Amino acid sequence: WTSNEGASGYLTIDLGAIRRNYEKLSAAVSPAKAAAVVKADSYGLGATKIAPVLLSAGCRHFFVAHFCEAIEISPHLSDEARIFVLNGLQPGNETPAAEADIIPVLNSMEQLRRWSATARAIHRRLPAVLQFDTGMSRLGFPPEERSFLVEELRSNQDLDILFIMSHLASADDEDSQQNGDQLSEMRRIAEEFPAFGVCFANSGGVFLSNEYHGVLARPGIALYGGTPNNGGSNPMEPVVSLDVAVIQTRTVPAGARVGYGATFVTKTETRLATIAAGYADGLPRSLSDSGAVYYNGVRLPIVGRVSMDSITIDVSALPAGTLSLGSLVEVIGPNQTLEMLAADAGTISYEILTSLGHRYRRQYR
Ligand code: PLP
Repeated sequence: WTSNEGASGYLTIDLGAIRRNYEKLSAAVSPAKAAAVVKADSYGLGATKIAPVLLSAGCRHFFVAHFCEAIEISPHLSDEARIFVLNGLQPGNETPAAEADIIPVLNSMEQLRRWSATARAIHRRLPAVLQFDTGMSRLGFPPEERSFLVEELRSNQDLDILFIMSHLASADDEDSQQNGDQLSEMRRIAEEFPAFGVCFANSGGVFLSNEYHGVLARPGIALYGGTPNNGGSNPMEPVVSLDVAVIQTRTVPAGARVGYGATFVTKTETRLATIAAGYADGLPRSLSDSGAVYYNGVRLPIVGRVSMDSITIDVSALPAGTLSLGSLVEVIGPNQTLEMLAADAGTISYEILTSLGHRYRRQYR
């Protein structure tokens, strides 16, 4: 038990499942290594709890998005661990990052120059990773800067480039043409920079084929039980369960209006329950009148709009009196996977996880 005594929702995070997922991913990419993407507080599940578990499972490479995230997890890891900042460093963060042994991903010439200048200022060669844009147009050196970069690295004495990387935009869809296109582009880059190993595969990439593994894979969502491949069955073990307490039950007559805007009106006498989580707890408003929760395997539809702190469900499918104040209903668990909830909400598991917020009582087991 870690926080929120008295909360009315319980977020259970299975650290053993995360460890086993890491082991599975490691085995899948062997002889390449598997890093762990622990950005956004380990996809909302608690990076300071999860990163040490991954370390003990053999993980030595940890990716965050922001420098402040690196600083947060660093004290929870040993000297064997390397922490990489995917977004690179904001101007002014270079010296603190160098002092804290945090390694930036360099996405642009400007970031490279600033990191080189920091190395010269502190009279120390500094480690770095180079990211290339292989077709996502988001971050990394664009194709037209590559020959210039080759020249720059020939004379640059300031940086110790550990590996090169790129990010796959469509790896969750194994049929996407973009995967092969990005792989071809990455191969061209690897020929131009033959001294460095390649870090390429995200969770989806791990399961595409070993051509995507390079020397280091970089999975995130699969560690946390999310499916790496949208089309197929999920090979990962579930990590998260979410149970939310009933705060009131009532029986309403036919014609009762439910929730903001009265988007749901009962057709017959209906038994309702209100549960203690809403969109402020990461259950998107798009679940209004469409999603469901479960009790003992029975589907209980969400009726009316999702409110900030509560959701009303139709519990008529259960025998009267089954639910009362304090009963727990399943929002994520054996009956409703993370992906099912995300699909009902019209979003992806990543967004659900990272939005869950801090009003649940978190239990790590
Ligand atoms: N690498 C980069 C650059 C990312 O932005 C992400 C996450 O979005 C990952 C790796 C991990 O991706 P996934 O969670 O799909 O495995």
